[in-house]
Amino acid sequence: MTHPGLPEFWGMIVLGVMLVLSLLLVLNIKLPEIKTNKVKTSKVKNNYRIFILLVSAFKQNRWILMILKLITVTMFLLVIYAGLMGTPIPERNVATVMIWNIWWAGLIISIFFLGSAWCAICPWDTLASWHVKPKLWLLKLNNSLELTPPKWMRSVWPALIMFIGLTWLELGYGITTSPYATALLSLVMVLMAVSFMALYKNKAFCHYVCPVGRTIGFYSQLAPVEIRPLNQNTCDECKTLECFNGTDRVDACPTQLVMGRLTQNTYCTSCGNCVQSCPDNNVSWRLRAPSQEAIESARPHWDEAWFMLVLLTLTSFHGITMMEFWEEGLRGFAQVIGDSGQLLVSFTMGLILSMLIPVSLYALVVELTRRLSKQKVEFKKLFTSLVFVSLPLAFSYHLAHNLNHMIRESVGASQVFLNPLGTSVTYSGVADELLIKNSMLLSENTIFALQALLMIFGFWIAIKVLKRRSALLLSQTGLNVLPVLLFMLAVNGFHLWMLMQPMVMRIGALCVVPTAL
Ligand code: SF4
Ligand code: SF4
Repeated sequence: MTHPGLPEFWGMIVLGVMLVLSLLLVLNIKLPEIKTNKVKTSKVKNNYRIFILLVSAFKQNRWILMILKLITVTMFLLVIYAGLMGTPIPERNVATVMIWNIWWAGLIISIFFLGSAWCAICPWDTLASWHVKPKLWLLKLNNSLELTPPKWMRSVWPALIMFIGLTWLELGYGITTSPYATALLSLVMVLMAVSFMALYKNKAFCHYVCPVGRTIGFYSQLAPVEIRPLNQNTCDECKTLECFNGTDRVDACPTQLVMGRLTQNTYCTSCGNCVQSCPDNNVSWRLRAPSQEAIESARPHWDEAWFMLVLLTLTSFHGITMMEFWEEGLRGFAQVIGDSGQLLVSFTMGLILSMLIPVSLYALVVELTRRLSKQKVEFKKLFTSLVFVSLPLAFSYHLAHNLNHMIRESVGASQVFLNPLGTSVTYSGVADELLIKNSMLLSENTIFALQALLMIFGFWIAIKVLKRRSALLLSQTGLNVLPVLLFMLAVNGFHLWMLMQPMVMRIGALCVVPTAL
């Protein structure tokens, strides 16, 4: 079954706005600003009162976090049990429904509002901590060897390799349609989290290896929330660095961040340790202008640039594999090269090509921009600086794509939760499209409007990133950045085109009528 694509009307609006924004950039006309409005607990504004109340509740009541962790751990254990013991029909088993229809789609949407909040209640990390570093009231045990991670591991490369591997398993091996394989993958992730915590100090798995955490981290550069010092001077004068070192009562920052020097959300797991450990009560969650980091404050690094670029390519690749032409094209290609069975060779070649083409194009446009500007800027420096444009392009498409999946494919999820193992039911044939449409949380037109707005938002942010980052390095923008601008137009145009096509469902319809065996 497929979902309808974005109507032409909305496609034309998005395209029109993209062209106007591009023109404004080329002509060097000022773009609309996003108002920066940092909210401090000391200066409560009425419109942020709910946010401040939530922050205060979390700061004062650690048990709220513990309850949330207990809920996610329970759900996670249910996923493993149902995946191993329940029906192999993916749309009838809570393991596949919860992981691929609800969690993965909802996780990306949650970053838009809450940044890396998921990591604060992540069941992999919670289970690892309970096993390796359990806390029983005032008693704190530590069964970790506390080794220093080797130098080769201390970068984003391990997470990048894991991310590509997971994409291969998800889309090539078809884990999304197998409850058993979904449960095994969940187990592997928790075993890795436990092993890394048992071997290394702090949270090496979260910091260097977890592809979910790093994806959340990079996208969180665009989030409207951050954990930062309330007063920078207090941090500048601090000699004890409790946020980094921890205290008797509170653990050190798991990803070794020093609050006073923090400029980006990339490695913050929103654990709240620094909020608790700061003796001056100087650290808090606060609201900010979304995308501020990607536009300006995040620092460019070579390994991180590659993660952002691959994130863009794999996000597009996810969309491609859900187009109707993909299956047919893959089979045709497999016939030509003599591939059979699960067509893994053909799929792997498709995956590699889908990464190589955009990456090569990006490298080419960066070099062209460098030559056009006639400035003495190193290729590597320009490559790592301008790559931030890929974040809003990937995030907006990811959100628009996942919104469609989540709203349409979670219809009927309650049936699956009532019978998590899917016992005594069979797949009863073709899903009722009308039933899905009438039971959706948002109307079809609202989904289309939100998708269009997201695509415009992503392109607008990408334009702002390009304008600001190129101005810093090339001193002038306008026509000089035309190659990168064309790259952005091509990527967003391609994403828009994919959104306008019918999209294949991730695991199948849930709202079929169960048939008793
Ligand atoms: S980085 Fe990964 S393992 Fe760590 S808390 Fe986040 S999602 Fe969980
Ligand atoms: S201690 Fe603070 S800076 Fe470090 S990961 Fe936790 S919330 Fe983020």
